[in-house]
Amino acid sequence: MLEEYTKYIDEGTLSELKQLAQELKGVKILHVNSTKLGGGVAEILHRMVPLMNELGIETRWEVIKGELEFFKVTKKIHNLLHMPGKEALTHQDVITYMRQTYENVSYIDTDPYDVVFIHDPQPLGLIVKKRKGQRWVWRCHIDISTPDEGVWKFLEMFVNGYDGSIFHIPEFVREGVQIPAFVIPPSIDPLHDKNIELSEEFINSVLERFGIDPEKPIILQVSRFDRLKDPLGVMEAYKLVKRRYDCQLVLAGSFAADDPEGEEVYKEVMEAKGDDKDVFILNLPPDSHKEINALQRAATVVVQKSIREGFGLVVSEAMWKYKPVVGSNIGGIKRQIVNGVTGYLVNSVEGTAFRIKQLLANVKDREEMGKNAHERVRHSFLITRHISDYLLVTCKLLK
Ligand code: UDP
Repeated sequence: MLEEYTKYIDEGTLSELKQLAQELKGVKILHVNSTKLGGGVAEILHRMVPLMNELGIETRWEVIKGELEFFKVTKKIHNLLHMPGKEALTHQDVITYMRQTYENVSYIDTDPYDVVFIHDPQPLGLIVKKRKGQRWVWRCHIDISTPDEGVWKFLEMFVNGYDGSIFHIPEFVREGVQIPAFVIPPSIDPLHDKNIELSEEFINSVLERFGIDPEKPIILQVSRFDRLKDPLGVMEAYKLVKRRYDCQLVLAGSFAADDPEGEEVYKEVMEAKGDDKDVFILNLPPDSHKEINALQRAATVVVQKSIREGFGLVVSEAMWKYKPVVGSNIGGIKRQIVNGVTGYLVNSVEGTAFRIKQLLANVKDREEMGKNAHERVRHSFLITRHISDYLLVTCKLLK
């Protein structure tokens, strides 16, 4: 499988990757996160773990167990880390988090590994299991540049027990982090079903299945049903565009196992849709990779109007498919989209509508930006670069 990447990266980069892996021969690595399905972290691990094994590094992936109550608390932590809110973490929340952590301590065997990567805050507390000689890394996938201080203080106690931390962009590195911090943006895999090339026939069959008109422009946002992805804001922008252009809006999403708010947000979006026949709210099974791929390829303009975003994998996925993306000027998206070159960065509903209209009006701009977008992802955001960065961090920490 590794050799297949030479279609996208040069031989030299691949042999560097193999050399790095050679340095780490015999090292055992474990990744731990909170869901097998749904969301960007699971998406990356599904591809990264087999590739690391193919490189000769024994790598496993474990998922923590959690009751609904626990995931309600971790979702609250997730939201509060993204921005301070009205709610605060209660004593009961802390007890729920600690109790589940305690259960996972005996459920997940971390001892056989030399290096343990813990993804995001849900499994963070497992650090209490760290044994002598091991290296533990906290891989943060979220935008924690403006967190609720109380929640951050609680997590910081765990974070500082790690040997290293990894953030998507420099702005996310917190001052209180006393351990080495590395900056590594995440990636997409061109060989994943989500990103492989598809025939026109298949793309059209997907549109037909959902009743989408292939002749009418399609504005698309793909996201879990989460308020931080601002699906209602996308709908408002679409309504402004619709005054001038006969177009369709597709909001494709799914529920993630570790996100208890999905159903509620889905209902809100369905209500906002009303009886507009040009709006399609698709609640897809989480493994609908080829369908998402087809929708991204069929889209005229892709939108990512998140309020907070560590790094939108969906942004990179759409860019890889030669799509200009209109994305919020926040978090990792700021680093993904080069404003005016690969798409547009926007700050409001009106701005989003304005840029969508501009792109709908101009095929040439769309094509040019789409090409630039593809090249940007090929250069900076593919999985081979991501693995190589992880291996470098591992080498550094084991020295
Ligand atoms: N995704 C999917 N189906 C959906 C919604 C999202 O397969 O209905 C995928 C999407 O293609 C991307 C990942 O889930 O690969 C979402 O990652 P992103 O970083 O954009 O957001 P997150 O969900 O991690 O906040």
